[in-house]
Amino acid sequence: MFLRKRINLRNTLAFRLTLWYAGVFTLSSCIAFLLFYMLITSWIRDRTDQELLSQVNRFSTLLVAEGFEAVKNDAVIEAQAAGIKKVFFRLLSLKGQVFSSSNISYWKDININETAIRELLQGSSHIFETITIPDHKDKVRILYAFLSPSIILQVGQAMESYSRFLDAFKGIFIITMTFLIILAAGVGWFMARRAVSGVEAITQTAQSISGGTLGKRVPVKERGDEIDQLAMTFNQMLDRIQTLVTEIKEMSDNIAHDLRSPITRIRGIAEVTLTDGKSMDEYENMAASTIEECDRLLDMINTMLMISKTESGVDKLSFERIDLANLVREACELFEPTAEDKSVTLSCDVPQKSHLVGDNRTIQRMLSNLLDNAIKYTPSGGTVSVSVSENDERNIVITVKDTGIGISPNDLPRIFDRFYRCDQSRTTLGIGLGLSLARAIARAHGGDITVTSLLNQGSIFTVTLPILKS
Ligand code: ADP
Repeated sequence: MFLRKRINLRNTLAFRLTLWYAGVFTLSSCIAFLLFYMLITSWIRDRTDQELLSQVNRFSTLLVAEGFEAVKNDAVIEAQAAGIKKVFFRLLSLKGQVFSSSNISYWKDININETAIRELLQGSSHIFETITIPDHKDKVRILYAFLSPSIILQVGQAMESYSRFLDAFKGIFIITMTFLIILAAGVGWFMARRAVSGVEAITQTAQSISGGTLGKRVPVKERGDEIDQLAMTFNQMLDRIQTLVTEIKEMSDNIAHDLRSPITRIRGIAEVTLTDGKSMDEYENMAASTIEECDRLLDMINTMLMISKTESGVDKLSFERIDLANLVREACELFEPTAEDKSVTLSCDVPQKSHLVGDNRTIQRMLSNLLDNAIKYTPSGGTVSVSVSENDERNIVITVKDTGIGISPNDLPRIFDRFYRCDQSRTTLGIGLGLSLARAIARAHGGDITVTSLLNQGSIFTVTLPILKS
């Protein structure tokens, strides 16, 4: 159990981010320490070199002023004064033989560097070297330089301050790095947890949604960062899914309802005829009513299929250049008798010609649905006016205006939904699919349908269709 938890923790993004953060932070700190170390050691070495060079200058001056013996004595005194474990002097011939030195007992392991002598003879003004002597704590910095054309001075100095700095540096480095690594891991963990907390909230919401609560939303912290954007996108997706699920539920309810009524009617007619029907006429009536109800059912199913196919693009429309003005004129002629029967005035205001690229069959269907509705929902004495105009070079606009019962503001946003029927039109024949299909057709052409309406005053349906298919 514990192992599983540990493995899980190691797999988390927060853990990996913390490791990265701590790693990068530690590496940067090490680089900073290294640079600091190099700077200080080079400064210490320069200072030691300056001290050694100043000894050479002092002895050169002494040699000129007081002679070789004075230099010999001074070297012994100087070494003793500084501490025989700190400084030593050797006076060398050009062949590297020692002819005088300070107390050298502590430095006996230091040999004469023949390469340095050679380089001096080849013209170098001075040569430095740093050596480490076994069993000696400090490193030794040694300088070879001419005191006179025939005397070479070898002067060495223990690099005490260097060793002191190195010891102090090691201590500071270990303590500081331990502290910094712990701090980096802590800060990294805190920052990583903060960064992924939003993702966790989304995961939790997603988990609770799989448990059945579609209404839940991820809290948005209003910081405007990536996590917020992810949360907002996720919430928008949930809104959309919720709407779709509600629509699907409503649609299945409506389908069930709309299928039940005709089936119940068919069953009722059959039952009554079987119980009471004795004559051939009654059986013929039953057959006729059954056919009528079945036609209604088939019409509904076919319309639903047509909407789905048009919306999904499965039903490929055959786009061609068509005269829309002519199509509208024909539709008006077709509905003229229906309008007359209802004493509704149908006026048609279309230009001589108005061409666009579209599918003849589906546009006819769309026009029929709109005209059928306009006449159906307009009481006797009312007017339905159809017009066609090119509002710009790219679109043709068809308006179907009626002075009918109108649509309430509450219903207006929903009338294009499948099976949606406003309360005041429930007494009228219809299945609530006509406008859905009309809109699907308009959209399949790259256009759309909008509606404005006032209750009891009338409605205006406006179809915008692009002249050329985009
Ligand atoms: P229906 O078969 O019920 O006419 P539609 O999809 O064509 O189905 O229309 C959906 C609903 O929109 C109708 O039930 C009706 O309430 C309303 N509606 C559509 N057109 C009009 C109109 N011209 N005037 C008033 N209401 C309308």
